[in-house]
Amino acid sequence: MQIYDTECRAKREFTPREAGRVRMYVCGPTVYDQIHIGNGRTFVAFDAIRRYLEAKGYDVTFVQNLTDVDDKIINRAAEEGRSAAEVASEYSRAFREQMARMGVEPPSVQPKATEEIGPMIALIKELVEGGHAYATPAGDVYFSVSSCPSYGEVSGRRVEDLLAGARVEVDEDKRESADFALWKAAKPGEPSWESPWGAGRPGWHTECVAMANRYLGVPIDIHGGGSDLVFPHHENENAQAEAAWGKPIANLWMHSGMLRVDGEKMSKSLGNFHTLKEVLDRYPADALRLLLLQTHYRSPLDFSFERLEGAQGAWERIKNTVSALTWAARDDATGASASEPGAAEEPTAVLASAVDEARNEFFGAMDDDFNTAGAIGALFTLATKANTYLAEVGEGAQPNVARAAAEALVELFGILGISVAPEEATLPAELVDLAAELADFAGGTPEEAAEALIRARGTARAERNWAAADAIRDRISALGLVVEDTPTGSRIVAREG
Ligand SMILES: [Zn+2]
Repeated sequence: MQIYDTECRAKREFTPREAGRVRMYVCGPTVYDQIHIGNGRTFVAFDAIRRYLEAKGYDVTFVQNLTDVDDKIINRAAEEGRSAAEVASEYSRAFREQMARMGVEPPSVQPKATEEIGPMIALIKELVEGGHAYATPAGDVYFSVSSCPSYGEVSGRRVEDLLAGARVEVDEDKRESADFALWKAAKPGEPSWESPWGAGRPGWHTECVAMANRYLGVPIDIHGGGSDLVFPHHENENAQAEAAWGKPIANLWMHSGMLRVDGEKMSKSLGNFHTLKEVLDRYPADALRLLLLQTHYRSPLDFSFERLEGAQGAWERIKNTVSALTWAARDDATGASASEPGAAEEPTAVLASAVDEARNEFFGAMDDDFNTAGAIGALFTLATKANTYLAEVGEGAQPNVARAAAEALVELFGILGISVAPEEATLPAELVDLAAELADFAGGTPEEAAEALIRARGTARAERNWAAADAIRDRISALGLVVEDTPTGSRIVAREG
């Protein structure tokens, strides 16, 4: 499996530290508001990556932090006259809610910054003692960038360039402009914890290092996040691990591309800013996942509601194909036995090999740096071929091949976290009543009776006993239900309106 590594600026063969196990960390949100669809894109991309690794048989430990103490949270709390803890807990809940709606698997561990202060202080102490960090008279602690020779390797920047031209802000007493805060002294009224440098709170860049080491052990196999985190966040994370433990924080860095809306950078002032919640309130999560994953995770993604509607239409068509295939795969599919034996041999063989091709292409694309766009393309091709097949063979569909095609679509889309399985067939209430009556009579369950009813009509039609078939249809119609005859059989649906 080839994965693009930000630090190498190239794809390389993926070899986890321990065979069969992947230690993965993706930076989580700062919980001060609903996340936007750009964040949603990042989390869906890494969810698909994680699911694929799991599908390949890896035991994946996925850690994602919640930054629940930060300037943005403190500012919002002040504006709204409530505590930072209240704001953080509201938006932590909101984040988990939207992730669940989006079908993102929960992390194996989801540590909160405020519950990891001890390990963070321990890390900062190590850095200070090792001469890589210094405390200021005000009680802040800074990381000394020039003490770390590998600084700049992750993002491909040169320390000299970073230091040249930049000035130290007057209100900060750090030694060099590129130095970053590990610990921030508390201002009055701010949430704070006791430390060797006085009351304060940890800096954001320290959080992920302490948590990745605590829950996964560094170097981890994969560290991911949006591409806006490469610098300075990930560079700063790596510097701390290198300085404290002489090891990089991660063996491989993955970054997802930015999302634009209608061709422009998303911003509140342009009026094109959308929260994930707002989009999920209006559209199915599966359609949004399909849209997001139709672009390779590293490429910029252009979002628009028009494109989302297009994805929704495509998703619905795939579901219809899977339903039609599932129907054709019923062993007792009406009419299947009535077709000329051997008549559909050639198209059946074509569909059977299309299923194998789609599987190969899907895995080939995903093994090549998680090319979800190529993988989805292969599944669309299979669906098109399946539709052609069903139209061509009519009632003579070969159940095994139809089943294999349906299963491939459900399973492979499922690896991307997109459900295309037909909804559980629920019988209309009136039919259940009729079936219950019949069941009493025949001694079976209502479901069996309903099935028998549909089957009886199918048999009547297959035997060209139109009178019997019509009598059953009329009895069902009297209940306000419609019998729908499709090329692959009959089903009963509630009448529209
Ligand atoms: Zn991080």
